Amino acid sequence: MTKQVSQGTCNICKGTFSKSMITKHLASCKKGRTIFETSAGKQQFKKAKTFHLVIEGRNLPDYWMHIEASADAEVADLDGFLRDTWLECCGHLSSFTIEGKTYMSDPDEEMCDEGMDVVLDDVLRPKMKFFHEYDFGTTTELVLRVVAERESEIKKKSIRLLARNDSPAITCASCGKVATQVCSQCIYEGEGWLCNECAKSHECGEKMLLPVVNSPRVGMCGYSG
Ligand SMILES: [Zn+2]
Ligand SMILES: [Zn+2]
Ligand SMILES: [Zn+2]
Ligand SMILES: [Zn+2]
Repeated sequence: MTKQVSQGTCNICKGTFSKSMITKHLASCKKGRTIFETSAGKQQFKKAKTFHLVIEGRNLPDYWMHIEASADAEVADLDGFLRDTWLECCGHLSSFTIEGKTYMSDPDEEMCDEGMDVVLDDVLRPKMKFFHEYDFGTTTELVLRVVAERESEIKKKSIRLLARNDSPAITCASCGKVATQVCSQCIYEGEGWLCNECAKSHECGEKMLLPVVNSPRVGMCGYSG
C-alpha cells in the first residue's frame, strides 16, 4: 500500500493543503487576512487573546485539526469541542494531561481529582504539548500542541475550527474498493476495513460493523460520527 500524503481543508478559504503546509498557510490565509484587515480600523471589534492549537490522533497522525480557542475558554469547553467533532459515542469519561497534571471530565471529590473548570489561559503556553483521552476502556488518545498565542476577533469563551484533515483513503482489505464499513472487532488487528459488498459476508457479522468516518475514533465502541 502506498502511503498517501495527508491532506486537509482550510475552514476559512476552503483551500486544500498538505498536513505539513497547513500551519504556514493558516498564518497567511488571504481570506483570513482580509477579514482581519477590513476590521482592523474599527474600534468596536474587540480583540481577545487566543491559542492556535493543532490536534492529532496519538497513533493516528492522519487525523488532525487546527483550532483557535479563546484564552478565556475552559478546559471543559475544549473537551466539549473534541467530543462534538471527533469523539462522542456514549458519554464516556475523558481527561486532559497538561504538564503531568490530570483534569477529569467527572472529577471524584474523594480522590481529589482536578476538574475541567480551569481557564485555558491559566494552563496553556506556546509550544506546549499535552494529551487528551476519551473513554478509559476503548480509549481514543489525542496529542495537542499550542502552535501560537495571538490576538484575534473571537467570541468570548468560543472555539473555532481553522482546518482539518480530509478523509484518509482507506480501501477494502478483500477487494480494494473504497472501504465504507469497519469491523469493531478486527480493527484491533489493524484489519476489518470493508466495502459495502464485502461487508455482507464478513465473518464477525453485521452487528460488529461501524461506518467509516473521518475521525480518530473510527471503528471504536459505537462511534458512528
Ligand atoms: Zn485558507
Ligand atoms: Zn462508546
Ligand atoms: Zn470489498
Ligand atoms: Zn471482523
